[in-house]
Amino acid sequence: MKSYRKDLWFNIPTRRAFVNVTPQVEECLQDSGITDGIALINAMHITASVFINDDESGLHQDYEEWLEKLAPHEPVSKYRHNRTGEDNGDAHLKRQIMGREVVVAISEGRLDFGPWEQIFYGEFDGRRKKRVLVKIIGE
Ligand code: ZN
Repeated sequence: MKSYRKDLWFNIPTRRAFVNVTPQVEECLQDSGITDGIALINAMHITASVFINDDESGLHQDYEEWLEKLAPHEPVSKYRHNRTGEDNGDAHLKRQIMGREVVVAISEGRLDFGPWEQIFYGEFDGRRKKRVLVKIIGE
């Protein structure tokens, strides 16, 4: 069995953003030489997500509005977590609902997606360096 590991680094200039990381994961898959197996892609921070969905800008705006309704950033004083002096209580909750990681099957040297599936990095407390782990195992 082969095993491959890589960190993808991000420094998003805004507080929140969604980034399609599928091309970077495909590059990892090429580098790994693995043609049959499993890929794990996970955010290494508790205020960022990795998820799979459609690369469609209307949907991304819908996510943004939906998440702001569920866990509005303001007022920051409403979150007990922010009593620690932080202002990212909302980002922890947004991360929870959008998920930590995805697992994708590798078949015939490709990411074995359903229709329209793409992998996204979801940032909820940006403006600093963060990373995503890509781990691929198989043969
Ligand atoms: Zn925090």
